[in-house]
Amino acid sequence: MVQTPGQARRSLPDFATGQAKRLLINGVWVEAGSGETIESVDPATGAPLAPLALAGAADVDLAVAAARRALEGDWGAFRPADRARVLSRLADLIEDRAEEFAAIDAVDMGAPIMTARWMASNAVSTFRYAAGQALTIHGDTIEHSQTRSMFAYSLKEPVGVVGSIIPWNGPLFAAAWKLAPALAAGCTVVLKPAEQAALTPLLLGELCIEAGLPPGTVNVVTGDGVAGAALTEHRGVDKIAFTGSTATGRRVIKGSAGTIKRLTLELGGKSPHIVFADADLDRAAQAAAMGAFTLSGQVCAAGTRLYVERDVCDEFTERVARITRSLRVGDPLDDQTVLGPLVSREQFDRVSAYVKTGSEQGASAISGDLPKAQEQFGDGFFVPPTLFTGVTDEMTIAQEEIFGPVLSAIPFDGVDDVLTKANNTPYGLAAGVWTQDVSRALEMTRGLRAGMVFVNNYGASDPAVPFGGYKMSGYGRENGRAAIEAYLETKSVWMEAAS
Ligand code: NAD
Repeated sequence: MVQTPGQARRSLPDFATGQAKRLLINGVWVEAGSGETIESVDPATGAPLAPLALAGAADVDLAVAAARRALEGDWGAFRPADRARVLSRLADLIEDRAEEFAAIDAVDMGAPIMTARWMASNAVSTFRYAAGQALTIHGDTIEHSQTRSMFAYSLKEPVGVVGSIIPWNGPLFAAAWKLAPALAAGCTVVLKPAEQAALTPLLLGELCIEAGLPPGTVNVVTGDGVAGAALTEHRGVDKIAFTGSTATGRRVIKGSAGTIKRLTLELGGKSPHIVFADADLDRAAQAAAMGAFTLSGQVCAAGTRLYVERDVCDEFTERVARITRSLRVGDPLDDQTVLGPLVSREQFDRVSAYVKTGSEQGASAISGDLPKAQEQFGDGFFVPPTLFTGVTDEMTIAQEEIFGPVLSAIPFDGVDDVLTKANNTPYGLAAGVWTQDVSRALEMTRGLRAGMVFVNNYGASDPAVPFGGYKMSGYGRENGRAAIEAYLETKSVWMEAAS
């Protein structure tokens, strides 16, 4: 029973139901060459949604060829101001249909509508920011020490055809984070959404055409790892921008090695969230709960290792547990819902197994009753937010990325101890620190090996601020100046007088 008792469930958005979705290749919607489709389900109920075309290598070939033609043809002729105008129009079109986008992500991946609305507005800002960025691209004139008759300057040129591969958590904004800087730089794109949640990227493809992007500039091929691998290995693709798990990221590195592609990788995380005894504990407790459980933990930068200074550890974890128990879990389409289901049966099984392992290894779940949630939600893939105490750093739940609503609280004693513990992970995506002591905050921000450090907040995000990881959380950055740079080549020109 997913809906609130006594209330009918809000109807599903039309785009999410009915006929099988097709691939967007060269500005036209086509079936996969094989005619095959993949199932797509509403994770809140397990009921089927519109199936997706299953792209294979031959479809990827067609999409890459279309992207190449657009790069060398109509899109290649767009000047920065033309690109800015079309990106701006695309942002407006998404904004006009933001509620529809949010509702589709809600039924397709189980994002609570309030979170899905934030994701839609983030996609709008991302395209607006990119529209501005398109106007800022420039090379340099360079002072050198060779003969004075030679003049040196650099040109910035689009990398070329980009294969963008995204995961299922936040399909719309993940697609926006890939498309916006690529288009601002003048690249063309073959976008491969995740097989579990691809509907908003398809609707975004529709709006790309409406906004005036020439055919082939953005192509959307739905499918699984086969299409992803075909894109990764393709000779006609110049760069892969990948977001997903570290395991698949490794495959992408190997698959792209044959053609030495440019790569940016946004991979997994196991981020530490650190609370010192002098912190504003009320705000920190709220942030600790939401930093771990937003989108039911299906967030790469989720703060899933909660380190609390020993003196306040018991009291603080109890506060977090109280907040956790109050989070309303339920129908993603309901405005009051804070946490929805996990994306798929497979993810539900994976996360449930981690919860079981946590208990078997001796940790205590002080919130979250999985059997009760299963009874309540029937065929939906709901895991309640689960806070474990009595966790040690060696336990599986403290080591591995779970990508579900599971938070491990661990006590620490002072700066050196917590820096050692926090950095003792192969990942380095994000970290949070709560303290009122500025010197300590500075020491922590320098000592933490992570691409993003949040001090007295957790999870802030903006299109202007770089996002990405250290260590096995990947390389390259999304957002900010760094993102567009990753879609540009630098050409050095030496010019000398002809005689
Ligand atoms: P995943 O790695 O299983 O899949 C990601 C994408 O890769 C999908 O589109 C999938 O079809 C495709 N793929 C699968 N096999 C492939 C192959 N051999 N070659 C090329 N592409 C292939 O990840 P997921 O389960 O969809 O998403 C969860 C993971 O994504 C988590 O590890 C999470 O931390 C990570 N993530 C990272 C960020 C970030 O910015 N760092 C953001 C969101 C998610």
